[in-house]
Amino acid sequence: MQNSATPTHCPYCALQCGMNLTPAPEGTVEVSERADFPVNRGALCGKGRTAPAVLSSRVRLTSPLVRSEGTLVPASWEEALDRIAENVVRTRTEHGPDACGVFGGGGLTNEKAYTLGKFARVVLGTSQIDYNGRFCMSSAAAAGIKAFGLDRGLPFPLEDIPKTGCVILVGSNLAETMPPSLRFFHELRENGGTLIVVDPRRTKTAEQADLHLAPRPGTDLALALGLLHLVVAEGRTDEEYIRERTTGWEDARAEALAHWPEYVERITGVAVPELREAVRMFCEPENAMVLTARGPEQQSKGTDTVGAWINLCLATGRAGRPLSGYGCLTGQGNGQGGREHGQKADQLPGYRKLDDPAARAHVAEVWGVDPDSLPGPGRSAYELLDALGTDIKSLLLMGSNPVVSAPRAAHVEERLKSLDFLAVCDVVLSETAALADVVLPVTQWAEETGTTTNLEGRVLLRRQAITPPEGIRSDLEVMHELAGRLGVEKGFPTDPEEVFEELRRASAGGVADYSGITYRRLVEENGVFWPCPAATAEEPDDGEDSALDAPPEDVEPLGVHPGTPRLFLDRFATPDGRARFVPVAHRATAEEPDDAYPVLLTTGRVVAQYQSGAQTRRVDELNAAAPGPFVELHPRLAARLGAAEGDPVAVVSRRGRAVAPARITTGIRPDTVFMPFHWAGEGRANTLTNPALDPTSRMPEFKSCAVRLEAVATPGGVPSSPRP
Ligand code: SF4
Repeated sequence: MQNSATPTHCPYCALQCGMNLTPAPEGTVEVSERADFPVNRGALCGKGRTAPAVLSSRVRLTSPLVRSEGTLVPASWEEALDRIAENVVRTRTEHGPDACGVFGGGGLTNEKAYTLGKFARVVLGTSQIDYNGRFCMSSAAAAGIKAFGLDRGLPFPLEDIPKTGCVILVGSNLAETMPPSLRFFHELRENGGTLIVVDPRRTKTAEQADLHLAPRPGTDLALALGLLHLVVAEGRTDEEYIRERTTGWEDARAEALAHWPEYVERITGVAVPELREAVRMFCEPENAMVLTARGPEQQSKGTDTVGAWINLCLATGRAGRPLSGYGCLTGQGNGQGGREHGQKADQLPGYRKLDDPAARAHVAEVWGVDPDSLPGPGRSAYELLDALGTDIKSLLLMGSNPVVSAPRAAHVEERLKSLDFLAVCDVVLSETAALADVVLPVTQWAEETGTTTNLEGRVLLRRQAITPPEGIRSDLEVMHELAGRLGVEKGFPTDPEEVFEELRRASAGGVADYSGITYRRLVEENGVFWPCPAATAEEPDDGEDSALDAPPEDVEPLGVHPGTPRLFLDRFATPDGRARFVPVAHRATAEEPDDAYPVLLTTGRVVAQYQSGAQTRRVDELNAAAPGPFVELHPRLAARLGAAEGDPVAVVSRRGRAVAPARITTGIRPDTVFMPFHWAGEGRANTLTNPALDPTSRMPEFKSCAVRLEAVATPGGVPSSPRP
């Protein structure tokens, strides 16, 4: 492997910051600034900077493991792969193909996600595949498709943000989740624009806002309706835009008019003058944006909540115009691309629908199989996990740690334990891998090449910088080996570029069309935005060359599609080209507080940890900064409980009990507590969360559930008693 710096991207979040990697001793790499990537311009957060620590053999898996007499012990690759294949065959023979489940991850590269979807449907013949990206932004995806006919995280590059007039940021704490992105919002304010943050907590992001609205968790649908009501009442709608570019306004308008500001104040706790101020700030500039993240999305009404924010954009003419629009800040590293290419229960590559006969025929032809042999849509992520041990008997899990990250996690842990057979591919022995019958150690970002698609819809090439250690194989090699053992000798290459070439053909003509993107273009252009259809007939065919070769000098890139940084400027992706208002009304969360559980719990992230913490909890520097879970609560709530800063507090929901130290702050509503969800054990926040699902997106309600607090005896101490 080369000794010079390799330009690549961070392994963690959807910003996919650019970085340079240089080989360092003991098989690891040094990270250095890569200023040419416009998303982060060299800046990195602590997670990206310390990512090489997970390459160390001190913390990673170095050999396959198989369970023997109840214990995981090292084994050869042959033994481990044979064991998986034997169990798949047994499960299929005894219970049918749908008894084999597959669970993927939003961190997998496009090549892996594509191959995993193909592996499930072609090799296993199962419909039972979904992935943890369902827990990420599926509600925004569903709402985007309803309104615009297409879902792509942001329909414009981040660099547009500083040039707009106002941004409403709903349920995103990007100062902690993706710190380098904060620069765009600083520049927005330097340019005279304003930032409105909607969050029940006064987060580090909210502290930087011109206006912070702090609704009760689960009421931002009502908040958006109240703002739209005021837009109508104050005559701030863009009637020409509504007439020319949308349909369905009258029904949406009627719903908004039913949500009086005083009624919305009672539901949300946000005062009417603050609502009026938000409307003024949003409507006065020529351009404005609404950006949502997990706050409004991870609700049992997440699709409608996002729809309400989209309606606000449409009514004011702020979508499909330069420097205006609605966007979703996706979360996981490949949260966007991971759902475009077939690991989602209802989708085929290119964002095609699995129940669309034409889509099935197209993909089946690329795969060389009979369309009728492809199974239909399967279960969503939580429903799949909930079915483990019942009609799903074995599971292949890749790049996910649901023991920590799934809602109602103790129940999910029991379901995993009830399986006949569990195989996990991972970098480290995560809490989920520790339950497996076979664990396969796989390569990491610096050791492999592949593409991801960031929150802007920009397809990127992560490049291999170092050779993986002896005994480690890539996920693509795992699927190649298993396919062979299960009788499918062809169609599962191990070279990522070869997989991408097939993905291009499979996606051609689909919503997420990657057919015009090549590894070479990704290197030369620093990423390409989809949709990017294949070149016209004038383009020379250079498919024989690799991205890492020099381009032939005689090639003239005539007719090459430039990619699509900005969507919807001419028309929306609906049959008539118009955006669709979707009428939505406020409704309660699935679990409102009552006498037994009088407080609301909301969950989220801290800056020094990432998702389930499987990787970041193994990094000393990050652990020093964020060593464990905590319960954030208001001083009034703490006083009622008799808890002081640092005292252990038990949080109890209908699903279980978690204990963590109190962190007392006036930056949270007195009726709400917050827990970060990165840890396992007694402080596991997802022990408490509610798996109630959104009817459209099947997103669980991570962001709101009813809990009660209990004082906990400290070692050698006396339990504090709640005050009346
Ligand atoms: Fe990596 Fe996200 Fe941090 Fe950038 S913001 S360095 S992509 S974790």
